[in-house]
Amino acid sequence: MSENHRIWIKSPLFVFAPDHPQPVTGLVINNQIIETLLVNNEQPEVSCDSVFDATGLVILPGLINTHHHFYQTLTRAWAPVVNEPLFPWLKTLYPVWARLTPEALHLATQVAMAELLLSGCTTAADHHYLFPQGLDDAIDVQADVVRQLGMRAMLTRGSMSLGEKDGGLPPQQTVQTGETIIRDSERLIARYHERGAGAQIQIALAPCSPFSVTREIMQESAHLAEREDVRLHTHLAETLDEEDFCLQTFGLRTVDYLDSVGWLSNRTWLAHGIHFNAEEIARLGAAGTGICHCPVSNMRLASGICPTLDLIEAGAPIGLGVDGSASNDASNMMYEARQALYLQRLKYGAGDITPELVLRWATEGSARVLGRNDIGRIAAGKQADLAMFSLDDIRFSGSHDPLAALILCGAERADHVMVGGQWRVTDGQINGLDMPDLLARHRLAARQLIAG
Ligand SMILES: [Zn+2]
Repeated sequence: MSENHRIWIKSPLFVFAPDHPQPVTGLVINNQIIETLLVNNEQPEVSCDSVFDATGLVILPGLINTHHHFYQTLTRAWAPVVNEPLFPWLKTLYPVWARLTPEALHLATQVAMAELLLSGCTTAADHHYLFPQGLDDAIDVQADVVRQLGMRAMLTRGSMSLGEKDGGLPPQQTVQTGETIIRDSERLIARYHERGAGAQIQIALAPCSPFSVTREIMQESAHLAEREDVRLHTHLAETLDEEDFCLQTFGLRTVDYLDSVGWLSNRTWLAHGIHFNAEEIARLGAAGTGICHCPVSNMRLASGICPTLDLIEAGAPIGLGVDGSASNDASNMMYEARQALYLQRLKYGAGDITPELVLRWATEGSARVLGRNDIGRIAAGKQADLAMFSLDDIRFSGSHDPLAALILCGAERADHVMVGGQWRVTDGQINGLDMPDLLARHRLAARQLIAG
């Protein structure tokens, strides 16, 4: 690439830049950055090295997934847990997951990220909390895949430290000591965490949930995050079983527990965030704690409905997440945005939950949840992370509004995806990835994991 490589994205059907004063009719990308938004079908004033004909394409900011468990692509639609709610679902799956190997995790991460990328996702957060013996380098395995696919990722160093014998939910062989967790967290931050605009890999600290970690590891993670200036992530208020667990074990409701371990802050984002009362919503909003809404997982496990608009009104950022593939079972951000629209309409009515709103959650909202302001919007100076969709498929035939069509007709696959000015998906295919070979190896690993 030359010093100043400029691409003119010419004549798109529609560009999702809702805060721009005029409809956007073209873009100029300069290396990894969006340099100019063109209007009134004008041509760029600068000379461009190449022209990309975007005729017929709807362009969104690259979608941002704020919660996943990539390894779970190996246990999708597994019969014993198809009809279980969270706690029995977890208890049945833990012994299977405890057999995870580095090779299987590598394949699972490739499949999850590739599936996300094909849906138009350019940045993904993963919550990896399984470190059985032999899998000490799980996050390193994931970082390799992120670089191979050229996406951005927030890799969270998850942890479980409260095993069955101490009153927790996970089996003893899947938990680690606090010392091991903190030492590895420090190593990963030093090795991988990039700061500032354009970061490809970031690390956050992510004790798994109130019922699988000790108070001490929550507190120590908060201290380390403060010291290293990295973010904190966990599952919270997903089910009423969890609320009961917190009341019985800590004598506290979930948000009181969060507060008691030093986590009620804008450094934290929470997966699910369903079972909050009005006072808790006000406290989360005042703290600026981010919430990742996971509509499909919440419907599949019958967990409940996140009070998104109440949280936003209180001041909490809202993003979207597909959650792990054992409870979704797709890794598709367009599908997730569509389900967010329908689920939230059941709670708040049709008028307040619009296609524009759920796409904002999937982009700029998710960026805020991850603490980033360089991605998630199509605006001058932002990273050139773009997802482009044609409306040629039968599902769009006869549609009128292009943005509404993406959500209501159910767009699920991007035609072209750019991350930091680099094309990663062309004509619906991931550049440089042998998909049939990957899927053959992934399917085999999934069968082996179940077989034991
Ligand atoms: Zn989760």
